Amino acid sequence: MTTYCGYIAIVGRPNVGKSTLLNQILKQKLSITSRKAQTTRHSILGIDTRDDTQFVYVDTPGIHQGSQKAMNRMMNKTAMQVLKDVDCVVFVLEGTRFLPDDEMVLGLIQKASVPCVLVLNKIDKIDDKETLLPFIQMMSEKHKFDAIIPISARTGLQVDALQNVVKAFLPEGPHLFDSEQFTDRPIRFLCAELVREKIFRLCGEELPYSTSVEIESYEDEGDLIRIHALVWVEKETHKRMIIGDKGLKMKDIATQARLDMERLLGKKVFLHAYCKVKAGWGNDERILKQFGYDND
Ligand code: GDP
Ligand code: MG
Repeated sequence: MTTYCGYIAIVGRPNVGKSTLLNQILKQKLSITSRKAQTTRHSILGIDTRDDTQFVYVDTPGIHQGSQKAMNRMMNKTAMQVLKDVDCVVFVLEGTRFLPDDEMVLGLIQKASVPCVLVLNKIDKIDDKETLLPFIQMMSEKHKFDAIIPISARTGLQVDALQNVVKAFLPEGPHLFDSEQFTDRPIRFLCAELVREKIFRLCGEELPYSTSVEIESYEDEGDLIRIHALVWVEKETHKRMIIGDKGLKMKDIATQARLDMERLLGKKVFLHAYCKVKAGWGNDERILKQFGYDND
């Protein structure tokens, strides 16, 4: 059987609905699995295997960080390298809004000259659907998008259609990951990503990208899921930044991450999060293994 497998980046300014879209995609068919490939070049957010095709969603460091400053930083090499290297970019806008921050993201996409599907998200919020057509017209004059698709990441409307379009850009090739059934490994991974995302959102860009989150334990107790998350940082100063005054920052991070987890898992979550300093964790094989970066 001919199989297809490719990398996809979901990009857009904060708050347009990227995480909601990814969660929607992964919820529809949760089949992220253990890693078959040794080290992929990318940081993987989620994998969705549908029949002959494997969609590998990757992280674009720098792009998902909030402030204006971060927007500058997203011009950085890392983000560009990822964009140049993926098979397809999904560029998310919020309905029919096109703000300066969106313009900046589009600039990056154009610079990377990568196939791009434009998504107009949150159409469930648009009462007057008549406004869609002129907006689509306007956007298609700005850039030669490979497709423009209105969706609702929240309700799932047209998300399948989006994936069918994306599929056309994924090259022929073996699947990089096992397509085994549901394990809690991918869920752990997603939960760790949620914590990490909140850290970047709430601590700003001073925090280095090397900050990592490990799900120490994950226990499904029926009507409650108990999760222990350990945040690894490289320096004591970073730890203080994450914990914040009287522990308030960490409390915020944990609360927001917990709410997202509850939405993703459809259950009550008890989340205990804490922070530890680990110098040079990137070179420590044992730790990498715990994060899921091993071969089996
Ligand atoms: P991100 O910063 O791009 O990852 O955005 P999020 O996925 O965190 O979404 C930002 C906000 O928009 C959240 O409150 C979502 O619930 C909301 N949102 C995302 N997608 C939709 C959608 O399709 N419809 C509506 N009404 N709200 C959405
Ligand atoms: Mg997000």
